[in-house]
Amino acid sequence: MSNAAVPKAQGRVLPTMNEDGSRRWIRPKPSDGAWLTRRRVVAYLLMVAYLAIPHVYINGKPSIWLNAVRREFTFFGFTFLATDTLLFMLLLGMLVLLVFTFTALFGRVWCGWGCPQTVWMEFLFRPIERWVERGRMGSIQIDRSGSHVNPRRIAKYAIYAVLSLILAHTFLAYFVGVEQLKVWVTRSPVEHPSSFAIMAVTSLLVFLDFAYFREQTCTIACPYGRWQSVLLDESSLVVAYDYGRGEPRMRGTKSRAASAGDCIDCGACVATCPTGIDIRDGLQMECIHCTQCSDACDAIMTSIGKPTGLIRYTSREVLAGGTTHLLRPRTVIYPVALALVFGVLVWQLDTRPMADVTLLRSLDRPFSEESDGRISNQVRIKIANRSNGDRQYQLTVSGVDDGQVVIPVNPFPVAEGANATTSIFVLLPRQGFREGDRMITVRVSDGGDFTADYPYRLLGPRGARATDSASRRDESDDRKENK
Ligand code: SF4
Ligand code: SF4
Repeated sequence: MSNAAVPKAQGRVLPTMNEDGSRRWIRPKPSDGAWLTRRRVVAYLLMVAYLAIPHVYINGKPSIWLNAVRREFTFFGFTFLATDTLLFMLLLGMLVLLVFTFTALFGRVWCGWGCPQTVWMEFLFRPIERWVERGRMGSIQIDRSGSHVNPRRIAKYAIYAVLSLILAHTFLAYFVGVEQLKVWVTRSPVEHPSSFAIMAVTSLLVFLDFAYFREQTCTIACPYGRWQSVLLDESSLVVAYDYGRGEPRMRGTKSRAASAGDCIDCGACVATCPTGIDIRDGLQMECIHCTQCSDACDAIMTSIGKPTGLIRYTSREVLAGGTTHLLRPRTVIYPVALALVFGVLVWQLDTRPMADVTLLRSLDRPFSEESDGRISNQVRIKIANRSNGDRQYQLTVSGVDDGQVVIPVNPFPVAEGANATTSIFVLLPRQGFREGDRMITVRVSDGGDFTADYPYRLLGPRGARATDSASRRDESDDRKENK
């Protein structure tokens, strides 16, 4: 199709798209400055932390470990099990409130300074691209050389592939642990095709993200940018162009009209923007508040003898001539809610027992009658070991002086962080169930920090002379009750 036949877009299109719908490749020009230096320090620290965390062990476990196989999450010494629904909800609630609070106060600081997409893209992949493809950087271009065999481009993608493998494997280490990952990496793919497929797909996705999709992850895929219209208010910290001072913009530095603003329309702020926008158009969803335009403009202002800060961290309220109000409903309500949720979470963590014990009835029937006439109850005991180590749980039963207790495995071993179920059998004479039930107490103890008593109601036929039909009726009642 010829260009003439392509319909033109009406109005503004995505910064990563040309009017004819083709990809607009963004190659931001680096801008040295005070903010870049600070961001670089933060980015390198974050990179080291990302690569190191799976190798740092606390209490014998990786410091952050989303163990998908055992369905548990370890976070700096605290392990959450699949049964910790309340703790998970509190943790998630805290994260959401943290995002709300942080965004209300500091805008999209996370996007520009801490997000892995920005950190790796702007401080590793793009610098490598500039280094390898020297002479093609510093401008926004439409890339039309895709069909050419370009040695520099091949070298760049080869480096990207190696980096993607490293990043993807580190990412997987957060889920399977470094030891398991070593096993996967060193074994032949034929021996573990599914785990090899996971590694290959993850590596490919990372490669495609940084080699092809790039800033579109921020401008199209990430929901956080879309939330900012509701999370930010007029007093939130943003990177913004001082419209009152810069306008009316006038190109060049000579023969400037007295009414001209400080903006010389040099385009440096646009050329350096990693998402390809013009900050002078106002607050935009695509702006990740990275401050690159601020550094670029400060350099221009310095070179023409004007004060820096035409683009700076400020609030829209200040730019409109007002003052920033730190105390606003959202900056009070969010932190108070956050403190409350955090307090409950800490309290829950502090008071939670070192084991979760659940007593369950037999899957078959509530009780059965032995050949000698005694009534047998099977009690299933499910134990989740929360302690930092494997444990042997001693099981004892009280309240059955007239009967017999059979505990096939005692003490019962449960590995650290694992869930396991065992059974005990209580045999009592039929006369022991005059009212159709009987209370006993099961004590579970690991011989150390954890000992707890659990009352449990055994079921049996009503009265000493209960008939089989009465027993069956009781069983039916019990089933209904236990549903
Ligand atoms: S870098 Fe500063 S002076 Fe240049 S166009 Fe942007 S705002 Fe105007
Ligand atoms: S407009 Fe400025 S702060 Fe926003 S993304 Fe572009 S360079 Fe970064």
